[in-house]
Formats: sequence, structure tokens, C-alpha cells
Amino acid sequence: MTKAAFPGSFDPPTLGHLNIIERAAALFDELVVVVAENPGKTCLFSPEERLSMLGDLVAARRNISVVSWNGLIVEFLKQQGIRILVRGIRGGVDFSYEFELSMWNKALAPQIETVFITTDPRYLVLRSSGIREVAAFGGSFEAMVPPLVAEALREKFPARGDSSAEKTGGPE
Ligand code: ADP
Repeated sequence: MTKAAFPGSFDPPTLGHLNIIERAAALFDELVVVVAENPGKTCLFSPEERLSMLGDLVAARRNISVVSWNGLIVEFLKQQGIRILVRGIRGGVDFSYEFELSMWNKALAPQIETVFITTDPRYLVLRSSGIREVAAFGGSFEAMVPPLVAEALREKFPARGDSSAEKTGGPE
């Protein structure tokens, strides 16, 4: 029985994350998606919101579960007896960051192996920070996230109307 964990901020979950989740769940018997509650990071969505969105997104998949964790990811894996840590890679920049992170994790917990899954080219440029920015400026993000995440983003950034709020005069 091979169990793996896929940790991340998922602020918010994107189609890129979901693709990695699906592919990892096909490689391993069980996959635990770990929502990292990083207190040093200001997130748009609370850990509860991120947990709930991911939970709904994988609800139909028997071998995927979602938890949140406030601490070192390797401590979670050690506590659960999980030896495989999955991370996604979009390109060279991700790789150098992820490689270094994996070295830190190796130093902290040598028994844990990091497994990289390269992105599907369709999601090469998708990143949560970009989606938050597009949403904040009223751009269209529907092709980048699953529908329930799109709905949650619309709630965070209610339509700013037809710019009438910026008009100062009376009726034209
Ligand atoms: P972090 O944990 O660094 O805050 P995220 O929550 O954004 O990052 O992402 C979690 C993991 O998913 C990381 O390994 C990241 O590289 C990967 N990932 C994010 N977006 C994509 C994508 N579009 N394709 C492949 N992997 C991705």
C-alpha cells in the first residue's frame, strides 16, 4: 500500500493543482492533499475555506483525502508514516525552488522521498498568485479554476459594477 502526500497552499486550488492531484492519485494507492497553514503567509482564503474547496473537489475520489496542517510538512508525513512527498513542477524556476526545498526536507527527514510531477502543458502558466491578481482586477479566471473555486472567487471579489461608482456627477 503506497501512500503519498501532496502539500501546498492552494490559495486557491487551480486546474493545475487538480491535474497533479489526479495524476498522483493514479500513481499511488492513497493520496493525502495537505493544506499548509503557513502563518507567515497572508492568504486570500482561510485554511478552512481551502480545505472545504479541495474536499468538495475530490469528494468523488475514494483514494484521495484532504487535511490541513499547521507545521513542518515532513512532520506530518512522519506522523502518518508517509514516505512520499509529491510536488508539481512548471519549469526551471519551480525546479530550482522545489529542488532546494527537497534538500531541506531531506536534511530534516532522510526517509522521505520527494517525487516531482511535471505539469500538463495546458496548465504551464497557471499559478494561484496570478489568479488572485486577475480576480482582484476583475479579469476572467473561469478557464483557470474549477467552477466551485470560480464561485468562491466571485464572492471574494464581488463585481465592481459598471464603474458608475467612480462617477461623481448626477444622471447624464
Ligand atoms: P506553495 O506550496 O509553494 O505555496 P502552491 O500551493 O501554489 O505552492 O502549489 C503546491 C504545489 O503545486 C507546488 O509543488 C507547485 O509547484 C504545484 N503547482 C502549482 N500550480 C501548478 C501547475 N499549474 N502545474 C503543476 N504544478 C503546479
